[in-house]
Amino acid sequence: MSGALKGKIALVTGASRGIGLAVADAVRAAGAHVIRLARSLTDGSADRQTDIRCDVAVAADVARAVGKVLKETGVPDIVVNNAGIFFIKPIEQTTPAEFAQTVAINLTGQFLVARAFVPHLVQRGSGHLVTIGSISDHVGFTGSTAYAASKFGVRGMHEVIRAETAKTGVRTTLVSPGPVNTDIWDPVNPDSQTGFTKRKDMLIAEDVAEAVLFAVTRPARVAVTEIRLLPSIYSPRG
Ligand code: NDP
Repeated sequence: MSGALKGKIALVTGASRGIGLAVADAVRAAGAHVIRLARSLTDGSADRQTDIRCDVAVAADVARAVGKVLKETGVPDIVVNNAGIFFIKPIEQTTPAEFAQTVAINLTGQFLVARAFVPHLVQRGSGHLVTIGSISDHVGFTGSTAYAASKFGVRGMHEVIRAETAKTGVRTTLVSPGPVNTDIWDPVNPDSQTGFTKRKDMLIAEDVAEAVLFAVTRPARVAVTEIRLLPSIYSPRG
């Protein structure tokens, strides 16, 4: 894919580690200028890379980041809504604060970023919004009330944005992976529990990055609407 995104600008949220970092590295390796957003990044720039500290759940942070991007880099060609958090608890142990925070980051964060950039893409008549969903955007796993609420939500939002941008030249892709071996699993420690996919059997972040890269490098006539990825050794838990 070397050079496939030469001259393009790609913005990736949650790009300090895990899937977001792999996506950022992949689009940059394909020639794009990458803009990475995350809470733990500090503002700065390097060759074909801009970092912006941003909590996607905080509207003022998103507004600051968007202003900086539009002023200093320009309207992105690719926006990857990836930032997210995850935990497993039965509903009675899930606090309202945990539920609200999950929805704020995973769903409202994607809304704020999409709301800021999609009108610019539509106005220009080109661009690609990639939504990182999850297997939990279409399957209800026990212990996932907050996470599933947020991820079913992003799938719904993806469908609506897809309808609202139809025939504008803007493309939208939902990428829905099963378990991926990233830090997000550390608190769960799936290797020590029965019924969970073991870390060695999970996808790796680069697998998801390749799916994103595939979607955003198709010819303009091709809309990759949805990609579902699972580890080939996969045992759904109850
Ligand atoms: P990681 O925990 O490895 O990385 C999460 C990333 O999101 C970090 O860069 C983190 O950066 C960022 N982030 C978290 N909260 C915020 C916030 N409020 N504002 C900005 N950035 C934030 O997770 P993964 O890479 O595994 O997950 C990435 C996405 O993929 C998530 O949406 C997740 O739901 C989804 N996914 C993951 C799967 C998996 O099994 N790993 C499976 C299916 C989907 P920082 O802390 O610096 O802000």
